[in-house]
Order: sequence, then C-alpha cells, then structure tokens
Amino acid sequence: MSVIGKNIEKVRGKIADAAGKSGRSLSDVRLMAVTKTVDDERIMEAIEVGVDIIGENYVQEAKRKIEKMGKNVEWHLIGHLQTNKAKYAVRLFDMIHSVDRLGVAVELDKRAKLSGNFVKILIEVNLSGEESKSGVIGEGAIDLIRDVSLLETLSIKGLMTMPPWFDEPEDARPFFSALRGLRDRIAEENIDGVHMDELSMGMTGDYAVAVEEGATIVRVGRAIFGERDYTMK
Ligand SMILES: *Cc1c(COP(=O)(O)O)cnc(C)c1O
Repeated sequence: MSVIGKNIEKVRGKIADAAGKSGRSLSDVRLMAVTKTVDDERIMEAIEVGVDIIGENYVQEAKRKIEKMGKNVEWHLIGHLQTNKAKYAVRLFDMIHSVDRLGVAVELDKRAKLSGNFVKILIEVNLSGEESKSGVIGEGAIDLIRDVSLLETLSIKGLMTMPPWFDEPEDARPFFSALRGLRDRIAEENIDGVHMDELSMGMTGDYAVAVEEGATIVRVGRAIFGERDYTMK
C-alpha cells in the first residue's frame, strides 16, 4: 500500500478508537482529506483508498482540481470565502464550511439563485476571539444563523471551528466541547430550515480529541499527505 494509503489507515484507526472511547458510532464521523497545495496524483491516491470528502481552502485551486478530477467525491470549501468568489463557490462545492458573515451568505444566495443551485453550508465560529481568525464570534452565531436561515437557497447544516494552535491536543478540548454546546443550544431554538447535524472540527494535531467531543467531520491534511510545500504551487 502507498504511504498515503497507510497514513489514511492510521488516521481511520485513531478515529475508530476515539469514537469507541466516547461511545459514538464510527459511521457518525467522516474523514475529510485536506488537499491545499497537494498535487492531483496524491489526491487521486487518497480517493482510491476510499476518502470521499476533499477539503480545499482556495477557490481557484479547487476549481482547477475539480474540473480535472470530477465530482465522484464531495468537494468542500474550508478556507475563508471572499464575496467575489461566491459565484464559483456555489457551483463547485458540495458544502461550504466557512460562512461567517451575512454579506457573504447573501452573495452566495444571490449566485445560487442565478445558477439554480442549493448550497449546504456550515457557520464558522471563532470561539477564542482571536482577531487573526475567521469566524463569527461565539454567541454571534445565533443571530447570524437566524438571518442566514431566511435565505432560500442556503441550507445550514451545522457549525465549524478552528481552535487556537496548541502543542497539546488536550488544550483544544474546551473549544470542541464549546462548539458542541453552542450547536445544542441552537438546535433547541428550532429555527426553520436550520439543521444542526454537523460539527466540523479537528485537524492533524487534535482530530482524536475532536471526535471524542462530537465531531462529525474531521479535516485532516498533514497526517495524510505530510507537510505542505507552499512553494510548489
Ligand atoms: C489546512 C487546514 C486543515 C488541515 O490542517 P492539518 O494540520 O494539515 O491537518 C483543516 N482545516 C482548515 C480550515 C485548514 O485550513
């Protein structure tokens, strides 16, 4: 088996352990392979061993890859979305994890209407308040979700977060459990058209902890493909 295949097997094993440990069903957790800067050949290897969600950060890069590799897998946008890229995003992605302000949601809705799409989205939440981070700040998610829920073509499926960077995965745990708590509270509001099924959280350093805290999609790049080479693009 290829190195990428072995890495994916290892990651799946850790996901299974974490699910077991926390009494969750393995089928409730999906693995996304994060492929920014990763070349097509290595992405194909991941797909061959059964990865069925590919996560990309940049619309342009994703557009090229999707046109080449096709839609036999789901393509998700996880990077910050600029309003002027919304028209491509609605056509390219099966889910957009990074909706964090009304302006971009309105633009997505407008573009989706024009192209006759419906778009699944997650609301990205910034739980640490760090200014360098994308995401609507904490409780602000509730008002944003009320507003976005009124946009006809957008279907809110849950929440996404990126905790601050820590050496110790355990340090990320409070952020993951906070996202789950926020998800539960929003679900209780029973907002029309809002489904709080998905929690997109956990990356190479901390995905096992995220699974223990309820992640339904973990976004893993380096544990599958190795360190990224940003000079190669
Ligand atoms: C790059 C990235 C990931 C993957 O990070 P790794 O540390 O390589 O697993 C996950 N989520 C987002 C939003 C990213 O930008």
